[in-house]
Amino acid sequence: MSSVCLICLGDVRAGEGYHARCARRLFGTARIPTIDLALSKIHTAALAMVGHTTFSGVQKKISVGFSTDRKTLQVVTEGGRYILKPQTETYPALPENEHVTTRLAELVDVAVAPSGLIHLSDGTRAFIVQRFDRRSDGRKVHQEDFCQLAEQPPRAKYAGTAELCVRLLRKFATEPPVEILKLFRMLVFGWWTGNGDVHLKNLSVLVDPRGIVKLTPAYDQVCTRLVIPQDTLALPVGGKKDNLSRKSWLAFAEYAGLTRKAAERVLERQAAALAPAQELLERCCLPAEQKARYADLLAARTRQLV
Ligand SMILES: [Zn+2]
Repeated sequence: MSSVCLICLGDVRAGEGYHARCARRLFGTARIPTIDLALSKIHTAALAMVGHTTFSGVQKKISVGFSTDRKTLQVVTEGGRYILKPQTETYPALPENEHVTTRLAELVDVAVAPSGLIHLSDGTRAFIVQRFDRRSDGRKVHQEDFCQLAEQPPRAKYAGTAELCVRLLRKFATEPPVEILKLFRMLVFGWWTGNGDVHLKNLSVLVDPRGIVKLTPAYDQVCTRLVIPQDTLALPVGGKKDNLSRKSWLAFAEYAGLTRKAAERVLERQAAALAPAQELLERCCLPAEQKARYADLLAARTRQLV
């Protein structure tokens, strides 16, 4: 009897929750750190981190870092290497949802930070992800979200369009064609996975020490349609937030200045990811009913792409 690795979702021997290599990649140690935090205490911990809430304000983001002996993860107010996102009261199984959606992104080369699921001290699962705005020495890397690039206040995060995002990259990215292709992949993937939360604050650029501006890895990857069934896109593509098709994506790609061939390659790759995606969904930690609905959504979206 085997079970799944709570990082890569591959097989592990019964009783082992992780591959040593996966643990090393995420935590820098083959042993999974313990975390002395229960869901009931999260509210207090989160209150200490003013403003760090997401997903319509229901999902708490808690900054955690290693204790000095590196055996335990602790809540920190500054310089944490990880973000911890526990279960919410409003939407069931969001950590499991974000975990599998983040794995699905890797199937189509949408860059994501190392992440996994971890058990809190009360046995509930939380999603844990490495911060990419910190270097290994804890120093902050400059990051700006698309709301900031557009000089809009945070509350305007839904007031953008996919086309605005392209224009922002044209203006600010060091190599616009490279970053716009990445953005296209990210937006197609977000739509494919029913993510209605790809708004202007969930897209960002990093400015590295040499001044090179590029997109950050994708974050907050959640199939919001599993918990909000009629959820549409946050940012319209060609004026549409729903009922997108291959044609809509190709028209948007043309606006974005991508070659027809490059755009078709992205769509074909996304469609070809259906079989491995269904397999990952089978293995993931979502409740069976959510797995089935997620699989149906991916199949339907894939039909709209070909
Ligand atoms: Zn693994």
